[in-house]
Amino acid sequence: MRRPLVVANWKMHKTVGESLDFVRSFRDECRWNDFCQVVLCPPFTSLYPVAQALQGTNITLGAQDLFWKDQGAYTGEISPLMLKDVGCQFVIIGHSERRGRFGKPDPELQEGELRSFFSESDQSVHKKILSAVRHQIRPIFCVGETLQEREEGITEEVIARQLGGGLTGAGADQMALVSIAYEPVWAIGTGKVCDASEAQRICRLIRDRLAEGFGRQVAESIRILYGGSITPENIEGLASQPDIDGGLVGGASLNPDSFCKIVEIVDRVRGRRAES
Ligand code: PEP
Repeated sequence: MRRPLVVANWKMHKTVGESLDFVRSFRDECRWNDFCQVVLCPPFTSLYPVAQALQGTNITLGAQDLFWKDQGAYTGEISPLMLKDVGCQFVIIGHSERRGRFGKPDPELQEGELRSFFSESDQSVHKKILSAVRHQIRPIFCVGETLQEREEGITEEVIARQLGGGLTGAGADQMALVSIAYEPVWAIGTGKVCDASEAQRICRLIRDRLAEGFGRQVAESIRILYGGSITPENIEGLASQPDIDGGLVGGASLNPDSFCKIVEIVDRVRGRRAES
């Protein structure tokens, strides 16, 4: 039985003070039965204070990215050693907002200009995944198609390419640390959630791909999350699907009450399934 996982991705939101306000409120008020593992991914500047505030709780710390080198002349980057040092156990890797192709218009950009600030490739994502697992940090590896790719009918192909690119050369012991997040780019931050049965279909396809590469036993043990406009209103349908093991939550994770509702629902739905 895979333990469900709910991850808060705060992106570039929250000062240290705001991060600590969230943790206090969430920690003191949210109650779940611990079927569900909960991970908070604040911005880098809040990692250390949030780690201190999470001590003695059942909430885990994650980062939103890393660089694959341990140290060196890489201005502006954060290494896996630094993440370990502040207590990170998880790291998001390959988020579409870093991959350099983003499917929704950005009002700050000129017409036709690509929302492509970080230009990450399958190759850099691959190096980051291997670096994270080398340091025993659990990657949450994001894959997903843009609206254009979906409309062109190449969703399956794109996801297969991303999975292959990110995981080539990984062994079963390394895969034991990896979770996958299926995040259709057109659903991120848009309010357009993917239909639960379609999200299930793609998550099943991801599991089947993993089975081809790493064997059925490994594939059945890997947690596959859905991400993209999750809210307390739509999470139940998603978490009830057999191959969706939780969620990667952006906007709705910024508010402790809505994030708590999501955690409680996943915990209840999956706990019920574990008992049946
Ligand atoms: C995300 O950033 O991974 C995400 C899913 O964002 P949102 O929930 O806001 O769509």
